[in-house]
Amino acid sequence: MYDCPSCKKPTISGARKWWSNMAYAECSECQRLCHVPGSSANAIFALAFVMFLLTIVAMITAQSTRVGIPGVLVGGASYVALWHRADLIPVSRARAATERKVGIVTAIFSAIISIFN
Ligand SMILES: [Zn+2]
Repeated sequence: MYDCPSCKKPTISGARKWWSNMAYAECSECQRLCHVPGSSANAIFALAFVMFLLTIVAMITAQSTRVGIPGVLVGGASYVALWHRADLIPVSRARAATERKVGIVTAIFSAIISIFN
C-alpha cells in the first residue's frame, strides 16, 4: 500500500496507484483524490518500451529467445520499481470533476494514441 499524499495514511494499493494515471485514486480515509502525473507515467512507459525494443533486438541478433528472458525480467522489474517510486500527487475535486467530463472513452482513445506516438 502507498501513502495518501493528503492524509499520509497507507490507503492506496499498488494496482490503484498504477491505474491512477487513467482514473484518480480515492483515499478510503480522507476521500481525497490523487494520481501519478501523466508526465511520470509516460516516462516510465517510454523506458519500459525502450527495454522491450532492446530485448527484441537482442533476441533477433542472437537468434535465440533465451536471451530475451533477462531482458524481460530486468525490464519488468524496473517498470515495477519506477511505479513504486513515482510520487502520488493530490488532485482537487474541482479539477477531477472538470476532467471527468472528458469521459473514459476519450481517456482510452488518448492512451491508444500515446502508444503510437
Ligand atoms: Zn487520505
